[in-house]
This record gives sequence, C-alpha cells and structure tokens, in this order.
Amino acid sequence: MKAAVIKKPGVIEIETVPTPKPGPGEVLLKVEACALCGTDQRVLSGEKHVDVSIVGHEITGTVAAVSGGVVGVRKGQRFIVQTVIGCGACPMCRIHRENLCEKGFIAMGYQFNGGFAEYMIMPQVAVDQGCLIPIPDDLSAEIGTLIEPLSCCVNGMKYIPLEHTEHVVIFGGGIIGVLNGLVARARGARLVTLMDVCQSRLDLLRKLGLPFDYLVNSGKISPAAWVKDATGGRGVDAVVVAASVKTLVTEGIGLLRRAGHLSVFAGMPKSDPVEPVDLNKIHYLELNLHGANSSSKEDYLQARDFLVSGKIDGRPLVTHRFPLDRFLEAVKVQADPSQGSLKIIIIP
Ligand SMILES: [Zn+2]
Ligand SMILES: [Zn+2]
Repeated sequence: MKAAVIKKPGVIEIETVPTPKPGPGEVLLKVEACALCGTDQRVLSGEKHVDVSIVGHEITGTVAAVSGGVVGVRKGQRFIVQTVIGCGACPMCRIHRENLCEKGFIAMGYQFNGGFAEYMIMPQVAVDQGCLIPIPDDLSAEIGTLIEPLSCCVNGMKYIPLEHTEHVVIFGGGIIGVLNGLVARARGARLVTLMDVCQSRLDLLRKLGLPFDYLVNSGKISPAAWVKDATGGRGVDAVVVAASVKTLVTEGIGLLRRAGHLSVFAGMPKSDPVEPVDLNKIHYLELNLHGANSSSKEDYLQARDFLVSGKIDGRPLVTHRFPLDRFLEAVKVQADPSQGSLKIIIIP
C-alpha cells in the first residue's frame, strides 16, 4: 500500500510499504479520508516527536478485514476513529473521561500508525474500548474527518452554558477557532464573534460564508474597546482562547461579564506557559475557567450528531483535497497562510 512515511524528523516520503495484516482482536481499515491537522504539521516538521512513522488522526474508514475475536464489527462498515485510548480502569476512565486518563492516554497516529496511508490497523485495545465510531452511509468521508477536531471543541465548551448565552468571543480564526464558534452557535449562543489579527484569515472566513455575527481584526481594534462598545460595557458571557498566545487569557478574562466563562482551548508554548492573572477578577466576578485536552467518546457522539443533523454544516470548512501522492504539497499549502486553507483532506 501507499503511505506517507516519516523517515526522520522533518523528512517524509511517499512509499509503498506492506499492507498491514490484522492480528488477533484487530481490525483493518481502508482509509477513505484523513485530514491534516496543526499537530500533524508539528510532527511532520520534526518539532514534535511521536512513536510511529505514519501519522494522521482525523480519519474516516471502511472495514476491509476483521480478525477473529472481534465482535460487532463487520467488513464494509464505515467508521470514524476515536484518537484517544485510555487505560479503561482508572477513576477518570471509569467515568468515561478517557482524555484525562490518570495513566496518560495513548492515541491513534501517535502511538499507533495513523491514517496517511491506504490502510491502517485498529489495535485490539482501541477496538475493545469502542474507538471505532459508526457513521451513516450518507455522511461523506471528508465531513467524517471533521468529527475528531469538532469533538475536541465540544469537550472544551461542555461546561459553558451556551444555551443561555448572549455573546461568545472566540480568539483565533484557524479551524479550531471556527469549530469552537460553530459549537457555540449550534448550542444556541445568540451572538458569536470571532477575532484574529490576520485580515486575510478573516476575509477567508467571510468568503466561506460561515455563520458568525462579527469578524473582528483584533490587531487593529482593541478587543476590550470592541466588547465594551458591543455589550454596553457589560462584557461577554464566554471567551474561547483558540490561539497559542498566552496573553489572550488575561485579555479574555478582561472581556467577561459577571459569572462569565473562559476556555483555554489552545495549549501554550511549553517553554513559557506562565501568565499572571488578576485573581480578584475571578474572585469578585465569580468567573469560571476551563481547560480542554482532546476529547472522550461522548464528545465524538455529540460532534457526529451535529454534523449528521446539519446543525453544523461542515462543507464550507474543507477548502483543499489532495491524493496521498501529493501529500507533501498538501503539507506546504497548510503551512503557508497565503494559500487560504482552512481544512485540508488527504484522500488515499
Ligand atoms: Zn488533530
Ligand atoms: Zn485511565
């Protein structure tokens, strides 16, 4: 089979490698589509290390073969892949929060080969823990790949009462900011504002016709002044930080009304993650701060339902498609802001 193989950090080659054979308890998937994500970019550039030579974790596939011992999975069935695999036994896994597994979760595309290949193996531990999530026949493969990143946004906002929310501000106009905004919209937030410092990014989102109320260039207009004006000085109900800029957390706290919520969706640079925060704001205004680390099965099911029901329209988000042969070109397009990509799909 063909695969995009990491030869050494920063060096990827499209190669023909043996098609894997499913061992006991394993399932062989034919990859229908696998989307490129920002984390893949960091792995492919050599900045981040993973244990495998084939990455890709936003996967839609069809079962090509099932080995003995697997129950409830048939050849020809379509699934998307849950990335996170918990230990299944710790207190967090027992309450179905495997993304917070106390042993540290393992993941498809990180500890097991991923989807930038024609075929991939679902290991027994993933099959046993229900990491194959069924999708309807009429859901396109490329929309299926959006379930994984969308599930992370569903998780990051799960404690924000968006159904009773007037106004949400998202910092960051990349795909993750957009997906957070779409979750806010789908759950009933009345106004959703997306802020980014890059005008061409905002222009792209406008051109794609995404359902946001305001697209604000926060490099030109101060978010604090804009929010003060837009809310009559009251502040917004929720802020999501979907850009790895730690000062946005302080800035976001300053935008919140009383009892508001802030989600630190983005991870911050590991070398410098500390940011001073006015704790009296959290104290007197009774603010709520949330983290976001990947997602659990429940979040996948919610994300799938948003896309299947059409409550979230994933179609405008897919801006580019490439065959596996042109994988390196796809990686370049994603890394180059002037190319105007939002989500890039590889179709092996
Ligand atoms: Zn991802
Ligand atoms: Zn666990």
